[in-house]
Amino acid sequence: MSSLSYVSTNNNSAWATFLSQVERVLPYLGDLALLADTLRHPKRALIVDVPLEMDNGTIRHFEGFRVQHNLSRGPGKGGVRFHPNVTLEEVMALSAWMTVKSAALNLPFGGAKGGIRVDPRELSEKELERLTRRYTNEISTIIGPQQDIPAPDVGTNAQIMAWMMDTYSMNTGTTSTGVVTGKPIYLGGSLGRVNATGRGVFVTGSRVAEQIGLTVQNCLLAIQGFGNVGSVATGLFHRAGARVVSVQDHSATLFDASGLDIPALADYQRQHGFIAGFPSAIQLKEEEFWHQEYDIFLLAALEGVITPERARSLQCRLVLEGANGPTLPGADDILHQRKITVVPDVICNAGGVTVSYFEWVQDFSSFFWSESEINDQLDRIMREALEVVWQKAETLDVTLRTAAYAVACERILTACRERGLYP
Ligand code: NAD
Repeated sequence: MSSLSYVSTNNNSAWATFLSQVERVLPYLGDLALLADTLRHPKRALIVDVPLEMDNGTIRHFEGFRVQHNLSRGPGKGGVRFHPNVTLEEVMALSAWMTVKSAALNLPFGGAKGGIRVDPRELSEKELERLTRRYTNEISTIIGPQQDIPAPDVGTNAQIMAWMMDTYSMNTGTTSTGVVTGKPIYLGGSLGRVNATGRGVFVTGSRVAEQIGLTVQNCLLAIQGFGNVGSVATGLFHRAGARVVSVQDHSATLFDASGLDIPALADYQRQHGFIAGFPSAIQLKEEEFWHQEYDIFLLAALEGVITPERARSLQCRLVLEGANGPTLPGADDILHQRKITVVPDVICNAGGVTVSYFEWVQDFSSFFWSESEINDQLDRIMREALEVVWQKAETLDVTLRTAAYAVACERILTACRERGLYP
């Protein structure tokens, strides 16, 4: 439980999950564990009021946040979420996971995250632009290409990043492309960014499958979430010969024992925005999805979906965490006892932040790489990071998650120790 006065006592919150993940790694950190309290204390948490003039002339106020969890290894990096359930605690957890993810991949970034408690679908395009610009202005005291670099997350996109970049640039009298990543290509965005997270899930997932003796070709795969991450990763697994037997999104759970036609499903999803009604598949009840037999279970939708109860009944050999925080800590132990391997989010879905790093580097050098260069570098960095984590897991005889936290926390806390305490 957190000792911070501004944090709730909810043991199932995302922040509580992060704290429990830190607890688990302490025995493996040696003397560095003495510094671990810094991970339980976000460096900076900014709460801002975002007043918005609606199209009808009324004024509404929205809560906005930007949290910089740890900046020891570099500027803050992390997305901005526009969602009605955003809270300070959720943003804190997401920023902390970014600290760990950047360090696990050895990218020169700390962790940050932002958000506004709003349903963007209820706003007109002009309202969304005004909201984004006012929010950017409110957090502009702490963001910047060398300080903290936002990116898209749930409910935000390349257009919103363009408005953020323009607002920051207007305020500073510069053309500051490096202040955000995930921008449109014409504004200094990077090729390969859209597919990067799904690609990383495939690269790490297929490598771990091989390590545990699973052949991707003909293996049975199920996926929750068929959006940006899920559809790209599933497409790559499908192309590698996996049989994708079940897909669940917010609208339906589809099942076909002989394998769904993934390219056709992706076309259908693009046209409709959901998968319900896709022809030639059986529709399962939502909970039945968790009780079928698969080899690989890919999560690419929500936090906290693998509860201890589901972990007890899941029938698969490998879980891939494309989403952030999909497995509750209690469930993690059960999966481990049942010898189900989990590729943790901080490695599995780090393809996005890795290509964001490439975008930032390209913006600084004003020299842009080809898509094949991006993909080659992405594959290399992800494979190398996974190899280090795999070795650590073998050496310490722990799960890949604890190993990834051990590798990341060693890097973060060593950086803290070497920088020393100011003043
Ligand atoms: P997205 O909005 O494109 O897709 C989300 C998918 O989840 C959709 O198919 C949606 O139908 C499904 N979904 C929503 N509610 C559901 C429910 N109750 N049951 C089943 N499915 C449901 O989002 P995305 O960009 O693909 O992100 C998915 C996850 O991956 C999120 O947790 C996000 O934080 C994480 N992630 C994304 C990136 C990235 O680069 N996009 C990077 C790292 C992590």
